[in-house]
Amino acid sequence: MELKSLYNLTYGMYIVSTEFEGKKNGQIANVAGQITNNPIKLFICLNNNNLTTELIKKRKAFSISILSEEANMKLIGKFGFKSGKEIDKFQDTEYITTKDNIPIVKESSLSYLVVDVETELNVGTHTVFIGSLRDANLFENKGNPMTYAYYHLVKGGLTEKNAPTFIENKIKKETIGGNMKKYKCTVCGYIYDPAKGDPDSGIKPGTAFEDIPSDWKCPVCGVTKDMFEPVE
Ligand code: FE
Repeated sequence: MELKSLYNLTYGMYIVSTEFEGKKNGQIANVAGQITNNPIKLFICLNNNNLTTELIKKRKAFSISILSEEANMKLIGKFGFKSGKEIDKFQDTEYITTKDNIPIVKESSLSYLVVDVETELNVGTHTVFIGSLRDANLFENKGNPMTYAYYHLVKGGLTEKNAPTFIENKIKKETIGGNMKKYKCTVCGYIYDPAKGDPDSGIKPGTAFEDIPSDWKCPVCGVTKDMFEPVE
C-alpha cells in the first residue's frame, strides 16, 4: 500500500466556528464540502477531542470561513495549533456574528457559510457534521482560496495531529535543495525554510536562520528561536 496516494486528494483551508452559552470557539478545518444542491447541504469533519466539536454538538450550528492565500501563519497558528480551552481565539481576531451569536472569522476570509446541523456521524476519532446552508456571503477580501496543498508547499505548514488527514511519521516531508539549513519548531513542527523566509513577520526570502533577529517567534505557535532545531 502506498499512502502517498492519499496526497492526491485535495482539501481547503477553513475556519469552523461556533458558540454555546457564551463560549465562542473556532478551529482550522481542511475537510469540508458541499454534498447536495437542492437543498444545499454541507459537511465538515472534526476531531472528537477538540473544543469546537464539543460546542457544535451542543449548539447544532456552525460557520465556515474560507481562507484566502493571503492568510498569515499567525492566524492559522492561533486557530490550528492552539486550544480554545486555554485562550480566547476571538480576542484579537476580526470577526462578525450571526443574529444568534455564532462567530464568523472575517480576517483573511473570502466568504462564509452558516450551517444548521441535521446529522451527526461519529466515525471513531472524528465526528462528521452534516447540515443545511442557512446563510452565505462574500467578504470584500480578494484572492484565491487557500488549498491545503498551498498551505503545505508555499506557507511551509504542517498537519496538526488532530486533523483527519494526519499520517503519523509515515511520510517524511521531502527537503528541497539550497545551501542554508532549514530549521524545525520542536513545539508545533513548523519548518523555517530560508528560501521562503517568513514574510508575514518581515523576514525576507533568502534569510539564513542564524540571521533572523533574536526576538523573532515561531509564526505558528509563538515560541522563541531557541526552540528550533536544524532539519537533517
Ligand atoms: Fe512552532
